[in-house]
Amino acid sequence: MLIPALLVWAALATDITGCRCDPARPESMEAPLCGLCREAEKQPAGVPYFFLKDSNPFKPNRWLLLPRSHGPDGLSPLLRMTAAERTRLWTAAVQKARELWGDDWGIAINGDTARTQCHTHIHIGRLLKGVETDHFVVVDGPAQIPVPEEGYGLWIHPAGGKLHVHLGERNTETVLLR
Ligand SMILES: [Zn+2]
Ligand SMILES: [Zn+2]
Ligand SMILES: [Zn+2]
Repeated sequence: MLIPALLVWAALATDITGCRCDPARPESMEAPLCGLCREAEKQPAGVPYFFLKDSNPFKPNRWLLLPRSHGPDGLSPLLRMTAAERTRLWTAAVQKARELWGDDWGIAINGDTARTQCHTHIHIGRLLKGVETDHFVVVDGPAQIPVPEEGYGLWIHPAGGKLHVHLGERNTETVLLR
């Protein structure tokens, strides 16, 4: 869905930021960077989100969580969602991550310059050993996960019954096992 704010951002174009795809015009979604938009269009109408195994053969352990809607595609999608939408998405991501990896999970969303797909997507995987840093905030659960600053991503993992949310990074999915 093309919204006026996105037009402004599109003027600053780099990869995903220049995408003008529109679900009403399938021909506008043929570019490689719109691959996940095409996957979203294959899902039943009305589902809020869906999971996909990462199709990259070099990332056999990865899953993705995507909203069905194209609403927040493009730049800083988390900033443009409502708090309820974000909480729903993070709750689903945490649940799936836990099912897959027990207490060893991590989830990540890349910053704008580290993304090659315009459709909003969260990476789900196993947290690599030794990636811990000092730059995190501790939260009780998905509803408290802060929104990253414009252009930045975040990564999350469980710690002591709570969640660490690591902010201030752009290429975040690298903390997850490929
Ligand atoms: Zn697109
Ligand atoms: Zn899309
Ligand atoms: Zn941490």
